[in-house]
Amino acid sequence: MTPCHLLAIALCGLGLSMPAAAADTVIAHVTLIDGTGGPALQDAWVHLADDRVSAIGTGAPPKRGDEIDGTGKFLIPGLIDTHVHIGGGRIRAEIGGAADEVAARRAAAVPSLHGYLYSGVTSVYDSGNFEDFIFPMRDAERAGEIVSPRIFATGGVVAFPRGYGSGPGATLIGSEEDFDALDRHLDWQPDMVKFIIDPQGRRGIPESPIFTPELLKQAIGRVHARGIRTTVHIPTEVEARMAIEAGIDALAHPAARTDTSAEFPAYVVEKGIPVSTTLTVFSNIAKVADNPGMFDTPLYRATLPEEERNRQKTTERERYIDSGMSAFFTRMLPGMQRNIRASHDNGITLALGTDRSFGPTVHQELELIVESGISPVEAIRIATLNGAIYLGTENDLGSIEVGKLADLVMLSADPTEDVTNAQSVVAVFKGGREIDLSMLDLPVNAH
Ligand SMILES: [Zn+2]
Repeated sequence: MTPCHLLAIALCGLGLSMPAAAADTVIAHVTLIDGTGGPALQDAWVHLADDRVSAIGTGAPPKRGDEIDGTGKFLIPGLIDTHVHIGGGRIRAEIGGAADEVAARRAAAVPSLHGYLYSGVTSVYDSGNFEDFIFPMRDAERAGEIVSPRIFATGGVVAFPRGYGSGPGATLIGSEEDFDALDRHLDWQPDMVKFIIDPQGRRGIPESPIFTPELLKQAIGRVHARGIRTTVHIPTEVEARMAIEAGIDALAHPAARTDTSAEFPAYVVEKGIPVSTTLTVFSNIAKVADNPGMFDTPLYRATLPEEERNRQKTTERERYIDSGMSAFFTRMLPGMQRNIRASHDNGITLALGTDRSFGPTVHQELELIVESGISPVEAIRIATLNGAIYLGTENDLGSIEVGKLADLVMLSADPTEDVTNAQSVVAVFKGGREIDLSMLDLPVNAH
C-alpha cells in the first residue's frame, strides 16, 4: 500500500474526499491572500504535494514539480458557502424507476454545482434538502464521481410538527417519542444537523408552534452524542438565545428580524457561536421586484442557463411579490446589514452564507457584506476560514496554510482592493488538482 492510499483512508475518516493524487505543483510569484485576514504576501509561492499545501515562501520558488506562474495574480482560499439548497431534489422521473430518478436529479444538480466551482466556490453546506437526493450527491462528490465543490449537508431539517419548516423532507420532533425519527435522520450521517425554531414563519406573523427548550436540549444532545455539530434557523434574539442555551453550535441566519439587544453580541461571542450571513436571500427577494435584470450579470450569464434566469425574472419574481416576501424583505434588509456590521465589529465569527442555489450569489453576498461596512480582506476571511470554522472543518479547510487541503482560487485582479475582483477567477484547485473550468457543464462552455 502506498502512502497515498494510507492518506486516503485517513481522510475518509474525516469525511473529506481526496481525488486521485496530484503531482507536485508550485504556484510561483503570486500575491497570497491566505484567508486569515492578515496582510497579503507579495511575490509568494505555494507548494502543493498531493492534495495539501506542503510549503509556502517568498521569492524564488523551489524547483519541484510543475510550476504555475502567478505573476500579477492573486491567490485566495476556495470560497465556502455555509448555507445553500442545491436544486434538483424534487425531480421525479417521468418514466422508468428509481435509477432514472437518481440520474435525472443528478443531471439537474451537476450544472449548479459546476456554477459554484466556476465562481471559485470549493465547498458548500446544503442546509436543507431531500435526504435521498443530497446524501447520494455528497457520496458521489466524495467518491470523485462528479466534478463538484465539496458537499457538506444536513439532509432534511429538524422541525416541530406543523411548525415552520415542517414540510416534505423534514424530521418532525414533537416529543421524546419522536427521537427514533431523529435517530434515523442521524443514520444518514449529516455533516451538521439543522433545527428550525421560527414562530413567525415567512411573513413575520407569530403563528407557528416551536420546540420547548427542554425538548430542543435533549434533541441537540442526541445529535452531539453522535459527534455531529448543529445549526439552527431562528428569526430573532429570543429564539437564538433559547437555541444557544440548549447547546446549538451555530446560527443559520443572523438573529436580525428585529433589532437585537446591546448585550447579545457579547453573549454570542462568549458562547463561540458562528453566524451564517445570508444577506443574499433577503436582498435578492427584495430587489428582484424592481430589478429583475440582476440575473443578467456576466457571472450569471456564464453559469445559469437562460431558461433558469428567465424563470427567476418571471415566475419566481411574481411568487415573491405576490406572497408579500419582496415587500417584507425590503423592510428587513437595512436592519440585517446593520446587524452584520455590528456583529462583525463586536467580534462575532461571521461565515458567508447565501441561502440560495447558484454560485454567483456568493459574490452578491461578498458585495453585501462589504456594503455593510466590512473591509474586503475581512469579507474574504468571512468567505473562507470562517466558513470552515462554521462547519468545524478549520483544521483542513478555509485558509492557505501548510498542512491544509489545497482548495485554492487564482484571480486576475486584487479582491482586497475591490471585492468584486473575487469574480476574476482564472484557476480553481480542489484538493491540489486544478479543475478544468472549460469542461464544466455551463452556458459559458456551450458552443
Ligand atoms: Zn436555507
